[in-house]
Amino acid sequence: MSATDFTRLRPATRLVHGGAMRSGFGETSEALFLTQGYVYASAEEAEARFKGESPGFVYSRFSNPTVAMFEERMALLEGAEAARATASGMAAVTAALMSLVKAGDHVVAARALFGSCLYIVDEWLPRFGVTSTLVEGTDLAQWRAAMRPNTKACFLESPTNPQLDVLDIAAIAEIAHAGGAKLVVDNVFATPLLQSPLKLGADVVVYSTTKHIDGQGRCLGGAILAARELIDGVIHNILRQTGPTISPFNAWVMLKGLETLPLRVNQQCASAARIADALADLPVVARTLYPFRADHPQVALARKQMNAGGTVVCFEILGGKQAAFRFANALGIVKISNNLGDAKSLITHPATTTHQRLAPETRATMGITEGMLRLSVGLEDVDDLLDDIAQAARAAA
Ligand SMILES: *Cc1c(COP(=O)(O)O)cnc(C)c1O
Repeated sequence: MSATDFTRLRPATRLVHGGAMRSGFGETSEALFLTQGYVYASAEEAEARFKGESPGFVYSRFSNPTVAMFEERMALLEGAEAARATASGMAAVTAALMSLVKAGDHVVAARALFGSCLYIVDEWLPRFGVTSTLVEGTDLAQWRAAMRPNTKACFLESPTNPQLDVLDIAAIAEIAHAGGAKLVVDNVFATPLLQSPLKLGADVVVYSTTKHIDGQGRCLGGAILAARELIDGVIHNILRQTGPTISPFNAWVMLKGLETLPLRVNQQCASAARIADALADLPVVARTLYPFRADHPQVALARKQMNAGGTVVCFEILGGKQAAFRFANALGIVKISNNLGDAKSLITHPATTTHQRLAPETRATMGITEGMLRLSVGLEDVDDLLDDIAQAARAAA
């Protein structure tokens, strides 16, 4: 079946079959091509391959059959013209942003970014003469005011980490385009199943496939999805020449992860919604943030822009850091870790880990308090998770 036929099929089917290429052995499961290079039948064939006149693989820094299967399956899932895989989510974010700017350009980004993304925008790009302005992502007036004639890229995550603010992707895409800039969306928290930024007007979508796409805490990986012109042009060249390449083994793990992504994410969203409601009922919990709950500040937008509330719940324990630590330490099934999107439920105290590097005032503006905890809901039986949370709440109180 050709790739174009897959566009008629529903996501779960694309995720099982999309992009599969079989070798002469006719293997059922996608093959893992652990090879650096490729041999050519003749010197003429090598010449044609290097000139791009004959299709095929040249060197695994930039092309490998297992990686190509993963990229094709990602593009089919996202409804993107093309995709490239990278060694990590940060490699994807860095290459995507660098593909859009050069010295003298300007970037506008929401302040509530994953820590390393914030570093790229706020500290790394300025070293190369690319300035940036950080805005409160939910405030469209701030996006408009930050745009300059040399703004070439806007960048956001939604829902944000850890506060789970929901940003209006369609409205921000319009602001970016009106100013001649492209919008890059880090879609990790929503996953490709819950939110389609390209359909909302974004130009580039990036993933840390380390999260839900592996989904079982094994390998790092990333992906960039966009129009073919951008992917096959400047992004391909950045990746080819600078080498943040995903290992074929990691790409194979991700490829197989995609087969079960809908089963896992649907289950995790259902559990997260129940856990959010249970947390909100606990006397020791001051505030619960979950995008599909009626008390979420952007619930209407979340319901318009996403298919479900996501797999992460954020909440605030009364009693600050000490009570939050007592809660985390009392959990038995839920593990303390800074990761997310895993089969195992994981709890994070952002103020002392993922967002520790920020100045206390910056954390305060972002709403990251000392009592805040972020829970990434895994695949355990939800009733066991609810019991674990209830006993930890008693310990924290
Ligand atoms: C984890 C994460 C990243 C970085 O991904 P790595 O695979 O760890 O490099 C970027 N953005 C978001 C929102 C993330 O959660």
